Amino acid sequence: MNNRLEGLQPERVFYYFEELTRIPHGSGNTKKISDYCADMAKAHGLEYYQDELNNLIIIKPASAGYAESPAVMLQGHLDMVNEKTDESAHDFSKDPLDIDVDGDWIYAHDTTLGGDDGIAVAMMLAILEDQSLAHPRLECVFTIDEEVGMEGAAGIDLSMCRSRYLLNLDSEEEGIMLSSCAGGVRYDLQLPVRYAKAKGVRADLVISGLKGGHSGAEIDKQRANANILMGRLLFRLDLEGDYSLISLEGGSKDNAITRTCRAELLVDEEAVQTLEKETADFLAEIRNEYQTVDPDIDITLEFKTAQQAQILNPLDQEKVIFLLMQAPYGVQAMSTDIEGLVETSLNLGVMRLTEDHFMMRYSIRSCINSRKKLLCDKLEYLIQFLGGDFTFTGDYPEWEYKRDSNFRALLADVYEEKYGSKMQVQAIHAGLECGIIGKKLPGIDMVSIGPDMKDIHTPQERLSISSTARTYDFVCEVLKRMQN
Ligand SMILES: [Zn+2]
Repeated sequence: MNNRLEGLQPERVFYYFEELTRIPHGSGNTKKISDYCADMAKAHGLEYYQDELNNLIIIKPASAGYAESPAVMLQGHLDMVNEKTDESAHDFSKDPLDIDVDGDWIYAHDTTLGGDDGIAVAMMLAILEDQSLAHPRLECVFTIDEEVGMEGAAGIDLSMCRSRYLLNLDSEEEGIMLSSCAGGVRYDLQLPVRYAKAKGVRADLVISGLKGGHSGAEIDKQRANANILMGRLLFRLDLEGDYSLISLEGGSKDNAITRTCRAELLVDEEAVQTLEKETADFLAEIRNEYQTVDPDIDITLEFKTAQQAQILNPLDQEKVIFLLMQAPYGVQAMSTDIEGLVETSLNLGVMRLTEDHFMMRYSIRSCINSRKKLLCDKLEYLIQFLGGDFTFTGDYPEWEYKRDSNFRALLADVYEEKYGSKMQVQAIHAGLECGIIGKKLPGIDMVSIGPDMKDIHTPQERLSISSTARTYDFVCEVLKRMQN
């Protein structure tokens, strides 16, 4: 087999990285890669623990002179996202990746590379086998299925670990220390509703043309959400004219900002003109409000012939509109520790009238647990007050920013000495494994770093060779500086 990465430095990091690209390891298919790493531990006489999920922990004792120093955890995930181009015939269940080098970049022909997070695995294996390195006791943690809900981190038993510091290696930009992430939960509100038969002019109301986006990464852009706009419009139409709701439907994912929302109305012949005018006025106002961030919003209202339909009970309709007008939405607070970071937010990703209830599905996020809880309480209070109920799923913990972190200070010092510039402290408004691991090891001081990667999770994914070399060198130097 060709060794495309031969000759690259650090040699053992790229050796292992190339080995990993030959072992299929998409999420859900981690047995082989986990065994490969376990075999390496066995071959080097290192203590290791592999669980039934295929999570793996490899322990390397402290080097001479570091016996008294607190243990350090290095951590990355074993699984990768399998994506390929439309033309590719690659079989992710058995084919090795077809990797190549272009200048400073490693990539795979027509598929994801798995630099996320294979480079973390390769760096840990290289550190584990290198007897020349100076470091405290190392606890290297290899988790599975980070990319599909962090199941490995959730299921792993860390009770044998003594680490007081965690260096997570799952970031994609050199020079940045991630220091906090959001926790989240998916919240469903259900309001029972009734219908009755009525006759009138049927109308289709559609709000579309919105940019949408990810409810974690893009909630700070203050774009419009079609469900929220529909709530405003229904409220306004209700003030000015008379109509009844037949149906209401917007969005399909809790974590996507809703781009389209549809409602069907039943209206009186005499109300048609008023509703048309109010809708047009509303559209003009909305376009003004969102001119900069969401300029292509459109609203259409089309009337059909008079017919019979099942309409929502007037009291239930009022409750639906009340909910849409009163439930909190969007960015609730910005971080007071990290500039530009959204601290707490919620997104109404899905809403729908069914035959017996109205449902609203939220994605709630916060890097402060009590603020997440507060939002949940508000929604619960509101829905129960109106006679409805709630359920929640997919709860995952935040990684709260540690205002006083020795570990961050050490990394900052080492980085500045080596490269003459300052590391940036950042955080993300989405989940990381650090949130889950941190809950299992209370008080642990954590940072997440990684070498430069581009376009992860796409067939254009690439990994910088020079940045990997610097990052590896940096990690080794940080470990060396952790004496006592
Ligand atoms: Zn990753």
